[in-house]
Amino acid sequence: MKKIGFLLVFAFFLLMFPSMSMAAQGGTHIYLDGAELEQPADAQAGSVKGSVMVPLRVIIENLGYEVDWDKKSGLVTIRQGERNLQLTVGSTKAVVDGKAIELSAAPVVQGSSTMVPLRFVGEQTGLKVSWNNDSKSAYLYSPDGGESVGIVPGRASSSPEEEAAGEGTLTPVTGDGEQTDDSTYIPDSPPAGEGKTAELNGIGFSENRLTIEVSAAVQPKVFTMSGPDRLVVDIPNVTFSESFKQQHSLNVSLQGEMPVTDYPDVAKIRYSMFDNATSTIRIVVDLNKEVHYQVNNEGDGLLVVDLAAPFTVPVVPPVTNGKPLVVIDPGHGGKQPGATSITNKNEKDFTLALALKVEALLKQETGLNVLMTRTTDVTLGLEERAKLANDNQATVFVSIHGNSFDGKTSPTGSETYYSRDESLPFAEVMHKHLVEGTGLPDRNVRKKSLHVTRETKMPAVLLEVGYLKHKTDEALMYSEDFQQRVAESIVAGIKEYLGQ
Ligand SMILES: [Zn+2]
Repeated sequence: MKKIGFLLVFAFFLLMFPSMSMAAQGGTHIYLDGAELEQPADAQAGSVKGSVMVPLRVIIENLGYEVDWDKKSGLVTIRQGERNLQLTVGSTKAVVDGKAIELSAAPVVQGSSTMVPLRFVGEQTGLKVSWNNDSKSAYLYSPDGGESVGIVPGRASSSPEEEAAGEGTLTPVTGDGEQTDDSTYIPDSPPAGEGKTAELNGIGFSENRLTIEVSAAVQPKVFTMSGPDRLVVDIPNVTFSESFKQQHSLNVSLQGEMPVTDYPDVAKIRYSMFDNATSTIRIVVDLNKEVHYQVNNEGDGLLVVDLAAPFTVPVVPPVTNGKPLVVIDPGHGGKQPGATSITNKNEKDFTLALALKVEALLKQETGLNVLMTRTTDVTLGLEERAKLANDNQATVFVSIHGNSFDGKTSPTGSETYYSRDESLPFAEVMHKHLVEGTGLPDRNVRKKSLHVTRETKMPAVLLEVGYLKHKTDEALMYSEDFQQRVAESIVAGIKEYLGQ
């Protein structure tokens, strides 16, 4: 699924200020729980004087907030239920629920939008935020990695399609193995806070990624320890912020932990004021086995540690006769339900049902081999899907999805996505058959940077079969007859492309 519109369009046209020098021209991205949000052409996320700024309305609209802007005073008021946030263009002072706070950078006007610090958005919405300066992408995650926490009417539903995890310049850091064990910590009173001390505002874990949000640039030390396995992040010169204490459990000894349930290799995350002398906060990820990791520290206070737990690729039956290998990828699964349909069905169930029908048909083809990324309701990362196809040297890759839309009226129809130019001929053949099979309006072949079609090394497509939020599309999509017909069309497309 994919975000293609906004629930509301706010009249947010402001005085045309002399153009601000935004660092990011074009090609920047904002992802909310993996789904890319549409940005205004004249106001793109980017780093300005060291602060990552994002167009306020893009995110706020997607979270169901209301926004008023007083042109005269430059006062921006954001409301949702009891919450009330006030910002002023050009001022670092903001008022949140009657309490004055200081922003890391003043809101600026860019084109038709007010740009605010990404960190502010994270703090005020409870979303975990990070910025990848290489791919110019802002990532926002709900703490539970998907379906909402309190704030959510009108938000985009979750999709990991574009969760481009692990991209950019990640610097591997190796542990020195000489650290003392964290269990030796003796609680004491908080440090006096001499010198420059930053504040730890939040810790999040989703998609095998630890996100740590600090109010200023920090130099963490990241390493692993064994017996039992754990990953340790030591951050000197920081204290727990008030907002951290509100979001996370923390006892009087300044120790706390958060459970992690979705990742079999991660038992929990603990944090504590580890060394009062240096005001070092230690964050420990308790692991069930050794993992590899990469640290991304852009120097803006957002630390991202990606855990690359080695995973097992299913073994393919030996290919004895050089037959092409078709990988079929039912989107989402397990803890990641994908989009919710108009009658509250999960996208992951549609994708699996259809994919299993495709598999059954492909197995009857004597000239092809087939490999599924999943055949049951299991959670599977995007990287694993692409790796499975790459490691097995698949000939073609087909990912199956249902589309989503959170506006007032959902479109209807079928779309075929590809990312790399070499996939276009395959996309065109597949799309022709898909539209024939669905009988739904032809919404074209589209090029988009989606993880599974981008990171695979063979011709790869992602089929958005129909719109789950459209009554007619949805009713068809969960019907056996329709699924069978579409499965046949997918197989016909694969066979035509492979010359069979
Ligand atoms: Zn999907």
